[in-house]
Amino acid sequence: TREIQLASRPHGRPVPENFRLAETALPGLKDGQVLVRNLFISVDPYMRGRMNDVKSYSPPFALDAALDGGAVGEVIASRSADRAVGDAVVHSLGWREYAVLDAGATAPARTDLAPAPAFLGALGMTGLTAYAGLLKVAGFTSGEVVFVSGAAGAVGSMVGQIAKALGASRVIGSAGSPEKVARLLELGFDAAFNYHDGPVAGQLAAAAGERGIDVYFDNVGGDHLEAALSALTVGGRVAMCGAISQYNSTAPAAAPRNLALAIGKQLTLKGFLVSGYGQHRAEFVQAMSGWLADGAVRYDETIVDGLENAPQAFMDLLDGANTGKMLVRL
Ligand code: NDP
Repeated sequence: TREIQLASRPHGRPVPENFRLAETALPGLKDGQVLVRNLFISVDPYMRGRMNDVKSYSPPFALDAALDGGAVGEVIASRSADRAVGDAVVHSLGWREYAVLDAGATAPARTDLAPAPAFLGALGMTGLTAYAGLLKVAGFTSGEVVFVSGAAGAVGSMVGQIAKALGASRVIGSAGSPEKVARLLELGFDAAFNYHDGPVAGQLAAAAGERGIDVYFDNVGGDHLEAALSALTVGGRVAMCGAISQYNSTAPAAAPRNLALAIGKQLTLKGFLVSGYGQHRAEFVQAMSGWLADGAVRYDETIVDGLENAPQAFMDLLDGANTGKMLVRL
């Protein structure tokens, strides 16, 4: 069976030499385990942090071993009463063709609600991140103005649409290309801008107007966060979800330079990890499947074919090649 291994640790931007396609033998199935043939694997920005040899909220990837990450697949052999051959499951041993794991480490993919790959995106980890970050972390309520960066990505596109579905008075998004900006307007964002067109602060101020923003959902950090601090109203909240503008950095970030605005405006900035919000999963799945069914929320996927192309898909994700969720189909 084939898997993608980490061959060396990237310095700055990852390069193809950091990855290796390897052949390995599958372990035998023990009692309570299942063999899953992976159909889609998830490609996620947080993996970049795990490629560094630095202790963080998730441990670093080991060299010369398979990467891991979210996957959906089909059970093709089972020694557990809880999973049958043919079941669609979500689990965390992606980046390989076949996974052997305890049945308890898999969750059923409710393919009655949506196609299997949606359980890596809109109905999966990135969807829950958007939902929990907006509602539980930032405490968004109807009538507020929301700004989200990385808005055409997996998390960001959900944030903006959930906010609209729940009565936001205005949703503003930023993204890295004119095509993505056009897509955001199609998805119901009230305003969107390309951050390559000029300084974020000026473009956000123009989009937010006198009213300003109540909530900033931060996927990017740096100058986006600085611009948002200036645009936030008194009592505004920031859900600090990610800082992708810094993931390949080899030097500390220069922005935000205006953090002290948080004092006078009495802002709340709260970092969070989706892993801390699993207790909201059932509520989220119910709400999201309703929005998907009635068309209030739509999701995009960028699908790359072939396990051997997963490293390139990851490098392309960091460069913004994806619209919506980045996936590799095996
Ligand atoms: P996306 O689908 O948003 O893909 C990443 C996007 O980031 C790219 O498409 C690119 O879009 C954008 N990007 C890359 N470099 C920059 C830059 N320098 N400035 C601005 N945008 C940039 O990924 P996800 O939706 O999976 O993740 C979004 C964020 O959420 C990430 O920061 C991720 O780490 C974080 N996250 C956090 C979680 C948590 O538990 N806290 C859980 C899941 C995700 P563009 O073309 O617009 O530049």
